Amino acid sequence: MSQPAQPPEWTPEEWMQAWTIHVGKAYRCDKCATMVMVTKGGVGTLEPICCAEPMKLVEQPDAIADR
Ligand SMILES: [Zn+2]
Repeated sequence: MSQPAQPPEWTPEEWMQAWTIHVGKAYRCDKCATMVMVTKGGVGTLEPICCAEPMKLVEQPDAIADR
């Protein structure tokens, strides 16, 4: 019985490491209150712009979103 070659599955630890960077964070515009929440992680920097100004990082988006 032979198995086709498959890419190795990521362990939960690997997902955590890859996603910890941005997932769950949110950015908010002070002028129009638009919020951007990060749902997929990535490597690098994220600087969303709204109303021609950089959006502010929200450390605890849940506290705002559940209002
Ligand atoms: Zn805005």
